[in-house]
Amino acid sequence: MKGFLHSIETMGLVDGPGTRTVFFLQGCPLRCAYCHNPDTLKRVGGQEVTPQRILEIANRYRPYYGEEGGVTFSGGEPLLQGEFVYECLKLLKHEGYNTCVDTSGFGNPVFYSKILPLVDTLILDVKAFDRESFRNLTTIDGFDSYVNFIANLDLWGFNGQIWIRHVMVPGQTDNEESMRRLVEIIKPVSHRVDRIEILPYHTSGVQKYSQLGIPYRLEGVEPMNKDKAKEFEVVANKLFSESLHQERKANELRKQEKLKLFRDKEIASKEERTDVFANLRKLPLLSDVDETDLDEVLNGVILLNIKAGEFIFRTGDPPDFMYLIYKGQMKIFYNTIDGEEQIFYIYRDGDFVGGLNLLVATPYRYIGQALTDCKVVAIPKAIFDKFFYHSPAVLRSVLAKSFERIRWAEELIQRLATSNASMKTAALLLKLVKLIGVETEEGIRLELSMNRGELGNYSGLRRETITRKLGEFKELGFIELVGNKVIVIKDLEALEGYVL
Ligand code: SF4
Repeated sequence: MKGFLHSIETMGLVDGPGTRTVFFLQGCPLRCAYCHNPDTLKRVGGQEVTPQRILEIANRYRPYYGEEGGVTFSGGEPLLQGEFVYECLKLLKHEGYNTCVDTSGFGNPVFYSKILPLVDTLILDVKAFDRESFRNLTTIDGFDSYVNFIANLDLWGFNGQIWIRHVMVPGQTDNEESMRRLVEIIKPVSHRVDRIEILPYHTSGVQKYSQLGIPYRLEGVEPMNKDKAKEFEVVANKLFSESLHQERKANELRKQEKLKLFRDKEIASKEERTDVFANLRKLPLLSDVDETDLDEVLNGVILLNIKAGEFIFRTGDPPDFMYLIYKGQMKIFYNTIDGEEQIFYIYRDGDFVGGLNLLVATPYRYIGQALTDCKVVAIPKAIFDKFFYHSPAVLRSVLAKSFERIRWAEELIQRLATSNASMKTAALLLKLVKLIGVETEEGIRLELSMNRGELGNYSGLRRETITRKLGEFKELGFIELVGNKVIVIKDLEALEGYVL
């Protein structure tokens, strides 16, 4: 594995926290009018290096990094050499280095979910604030893709801090309205933003253009006054802090509304509550709770009646509650960029969701919707923090659940990538057998809470395909279809044969 390196700065003080070694990589799909490194734009060229070599160089300068410093990948657009950057970050993280990536968000998306969890600081360059200015500045029609990149950072597993950077060109974004729009654009990641920096446009790279024989598109534009840029930086940071404040207030309001909504759905019957409480006490989740605290825990949780089709949580919901499904079925899904629903999990009696969100304080990534009428126990954060946060039984349960989810996600990825429609349908049926199968004299009975479309979304198939495949399996005598809501598995071995 080799990457293309343009140059190295060994004692960088501006590209990330502390003192850093900055590796400038080759290649960038954008053509920013003010780019002062036009010689980095070609994907190949420069010096070929291995990830091991990057580690050796970092090792050499490690004594200078101190507590905060480390290694930065810049460019060009470092995410364009996704595989190389991933291999480097793996090695560096293994050795305990602090990492930083300076990006405009135009790399190889295949590697985002591998790279981003390994990045401590992301320097996010915000080029422009609408489609047209973005195109004019970069020559690329990429504004929507950029906005998507920002919106999905959490989903790809990014867990670090963000430094926002914007190069200010006189006559273009040197006004308060632009600073307002900048703050608006970074809202989806505001919980990660540590600072906003406004960099004054300068002309120090102009000579390179004539050397390379490329026309310079900002010919005649004067450099941005540094003090003016600093003033706008203050404005942007003030607006950002105001927006954070408003967001916090809105979150608090949302929390209160949710609580009110929950109170409206609360199970009122005393007998039912006593019955649920008696059963909750038997759950492993509560096994570490001291007998004397049990009443406080049970009084603090909210027992909910949720109707089929109602939402329990949505993407972006703050981690205010953990949910335990006492009875019923809930689907956890995500709406893809194409507007398709991708179902990840189906949860039922005894399953819980949100434990990890509360432990690591991250918003919900997916949507939880009741497939059937459900009884759900909502555990508020305050109760979770007081009684569950330090409980080994809870940590074990959350870990076990996370592991189960990783396995399921891996299986899903493998199935989507390598299986044909028959294999996917058989795998889906086998999964449902494990989840909801009931042995009967006629075979294993699956009482479905999902329609054909949802079954398709769960298995990566279109509604028509899953309907056709189920019909074929029926003709082969593997299954029996009883109306739209019941499938009876007649030949389990035959189905298993497809996925072995
Ligand atoms: S993103 Fe950076 S490297 Fe790429 S063209 Fe723009 S300024 Fe140059």
